[in-house]
Amino acid sequence: MALTQHSPEQPECLSNEALFTPHEVAQKLDLSVETLRLYEREGLLVPYKLNSGHRRFTQSDVDWITCIQKQIHENKLNFAGIRYLLSLLPCHEMKPCCVEDYTTCPAGTKSCKPCWDFENTPCRDHGDNCRTCVVYQQVLNIDNLKEILSVKFKCD
Ligand code: SF4
Repeated sequence: MALTQHSPEQPECLSNEALFTPHEVAQKLDLSVETLRLYEREGLLVPYKLNSGHRRFTQSDVDWITCIQKQIHENKLNFAGIRYLLSLLPCHEMKPCCVEDYTTCPAGTKSCKPCWDFENTPCRDHGDNCRTCVVYQQVLNIDNLKEILSVKFKCD
């Protein structure tokens, strides 16, 4: 099924990208809109929110949701396992954070969930938007994500 491009309220940073409604993504991936909401509640997804509050997804989101589905159904990871993997992203290096922010950030000391799922990170206090942050954008680039995480596991 061909997905429809939406232009009203299109964020400027995405002016050339097609945005899909939750319903369109659900149809394409054969899952329910409730499942998309669940992934978001579980901290695995940060969709774009229009001024109206409605959620929108890009093709990169669709690819990432496909990857989440694979982790759950083929690799038998649960939400906690995926959150743990995402918590290994070196967000302080990727942003990068200043020393003061790094030493006070809860995402720096806890390995239970990705940084964007913490309420009180210094960058969010500064008003940063997790959806457009370099850290979350790397998650949407799945090949880069594998590379970043594999580097962290190297022993040499
Ligand atoms: S802005 Fe959000 S995604 Fe980026 S490092 Fe901070 S908490 Fe993580």
